Amino acid sequence: MHDHDNLGFDTLIAHFGEEEKIHGAVVPPIFQNSLFLFDQVEDLLDALTKNPLGPPHHYSRLTNPSVDLAEQKIARLEGTQACKLIGSGMGALSTAIMSSVEAGSHVVALDTAYQPVRTLLTNYLSHLGVTVTYVGGEDTDELLDAIRPETSVVYLEAPSSLMFRLQDVPTITRETRARGITTVFDNTYNTPLHMNPHAMGVDLVCHSCSKYLGGHSDITAGAVCGTRERIDRITKREVNLLGNILHPFQAWLLVRGMRTLSLRLKRHEATANALAAWLEERTEIERVHHISLPSFPQRDLYQSLMRGSGGLFSFEPKVQDDAKVFAFCNALKLFGRGISWGGFESLVVPQKVSPLNYQEPRWIIRLFCGLEDAEDLMRDVEGALSALNS
Ligand SMILES: *Cc1c(COP(=O)(O)O)cnc(C)c1O
Repeated sequence: MHDHDNLGFDTLIAHFGEEEKIHGAVVPPIFQNSLFLFDQVEDLLDALTKNPLGPPHHYSRLTNPSVDLAEQKIARLEGTQACKLIGSGMGALSTAIMSSVEAGSHVVALDTAYQPVRTLLTNYLSHLGVTVTYVGGEDTDELLDAIRPETSVVYLEAPSSLMFRLQDVPTITRETRARGITTVFDNTYNTPLHMNPHAMGVDLVCHSCSKYLGGHSDITAGAVCGTRERIDRITKREVNLLGNILHPFQAWLLVRGMRTLSLRLKRHEATANALAAWLEERTEIERVHHISLPSFPQRDLYQSLMRGSGGLFSFEPKVQDDAKVFAFCNALKLFGRGISWGGFESLVVPQKVSPLNYQEPRWIIRLFCGLEDAEDLMRDVEGALSALNS
């Protein structure tokens, strides 16, 4: 366990950061404590003033051993120097963005990025004088042309929520790096196993660990990954001052969930690939948005950016009637009607979207293929599909 450089993802998930066995315990304990004691008060004052991020730990609002372990593992998998865990994925994204803007800053963001991020940019940071330009993201020149002298963040998400669009990350970051602009990337869909955006020039790589990393629909958590310098700055400012660190028990559940990440991802991916390919042939369906279909319009980019896909995709039914879309969703027995995804269970959610290049809003139905038997999930969808007959 000394030469970590040559170990694969699965071995790292199993062992990295766990060399020291406390009382021989095979599973690291939960450090469910808010504060840490010092023998001498001089050492306490030193820790507070000279070395606030430790070690030694002094207060769990900043650092905690259970949180540290999950952070070390995720940073190692992402290929970044450091990671900070936050109480939710949205907390991680807002922390990353807020650490990189000031009054008067401009942000270039995707029009199909995760909706709450667009709300943060448009309706919340606008109060602090931050402006935003939305772009489709598929056309790199259009994205780079949206950059202004006051642009401080380019916000990317590939594949983007609901529409599954990709951006040419290495080409974009060559420009943003040269201009001193921070690139923030939502890597939730890919997990560190399928894409490592930092190696492609991204400054801050974020995850909602409520999805695949946690994997059991029992926690909300988020991660921000980047250089030691950036993450330490975020810990001293946003994490310390806004108070949004992940709690120790959640971090412990996160490590527990991650142990099966690679096995789960393979299963989600195989089921979704089969279901998406089958749906694509059905007459009720206008278009399937799934990055690993041979018909995916950005297939070359997919193959150059990512090592695999996952269980999440969407489709546009030909009928765009509210009642029929709802009837399809309600007829499903194994796909639960709910938001989120990445857990053991299959889910469905319809959403009316209006990306920049659409003439009018369209219903998109997003499916998440859980860990149930693929045959059962396909039969469930087949049984509900008659609701979408025109
Ligand atoms: C769920 C999700 C988030 C937000 O994560 P939470 O943990 O729910 O706050 C961000 N980005 C993407 C792509 C997501 O799917």
